[in-house]
Amino acid sequence: MDWFRAEGRDYPWRNNADPYAVFVSEAMLQQTQIATVLGKGYFSRWMRAFPTWEALAAAEETEILKEWEGLGYYNRARNLQKAAKRVTEEFGGRLPEDLETILSLPGVGRYTAGAVLSFAFNRRAPIVDGNVVRVFSRLISYSEPVDTTGAARLFWGLADDLTPGDEPRIYNSAIMELGQRICLRSSPECGICPVQVWCLAHSQGAVEAIPQKKRRAETLLREERVLFSLREGRIFLCPETGSRRKGLWRLPEISGAASEDLVEVLRFDYPITRYRVTLIVFINEGASSSFEKEISEGGWFAAGEGEMLPPLGSPYRKVLRMMLLRGMI
Ligand code: SF4
Repeated sequence: MDWFRAEGRDYPWRNNADPYAVFVSEAMLQQTQIATVLGKGYFSRWMRAFPTWEALAAAEETEILKEWEGLGYYNRARNLQKAAKRVTEEFGGRLPEDLETILSLPGVGRYTAGAVLSFAFNRRAPIVDGNVVRVFSRLISYSEPVDTTGAARLFWGLADDLTPGDEPRIYNSAIMELGQRICLRSSPECGICPVQVWCLAHSQGAVEAIPQKKRRAETLLREERVLFSLREGRIFLCPETGSRRKGLWRLPEISGAASEDLVEVLRFDYPITRYRVTLIVFINEGASSSFEKEISEGGWFAAGEGEMLPPLGSPYRKVLRMMLLRGMI
């Protein structure tokens, strides 16, 4: 805690114990790096667009997804709005300070509830995330895989034992930041680590071997063929299907047979869950093609620089960026 008081970083949500700001930052940081959330301005833009629970509760879903565009895992944005509606309607616009209620909000797990309680209200609530797991597993030289139920129980118990009643906000910030900045995954900075004297992995020379993970499921390869169709400066997009991507738009997918008549202009790989997808982009240079039969729903949108397109998934935004760079839009 002394180390953090002297060296801790100054994130915008740390200057601001507004529970709403803390809640938003935790939702954004669930699967996204701090550098992206801050460096690309997501947090500040979101707070400008929806500065309060009430503003978020009243927003249109399209506006919300547009602000979230590029962060991925769009259910986090939808859940944020559902939580805002509950806070506004059931709790008069004030987030209650108890664990049970916070845990009952959509998208909130044990980590987020602990983070919100300690960062927003300075309440004693343990938190365990990937950074904390790395620090703990090295401190106690835990050589088993850390991604098991038993290990989770152990680390949550340890967090509960270590979290002090006095200044839990400082303690939780400190232990996480230690993992982010000092106890790095590879080549940790043990020489300047404030807890080095208690670290078993360090004294045993086992730092690089810990933490261990279970063997990952194999990555599956997949091809995705999409059509880039441009007419008079307008591009054809269609709505995503499936509940997780509802509200987002994309380039229409076409079959291998339909793409035979078309011209490939671009291809790149992107990862999603356990897939590595090769996205292949085609344009139609001929007069007609069988692809048109495959594309039913969708619409034409102005595609130039600065145009307001509907919220698009990251790979399709990348296609648009690349086509723009190549002068094809
Ligand atoms: Fe991590 Fe090294 Fe500190 Fe141990 S001494 S907690 S391995 S940085």
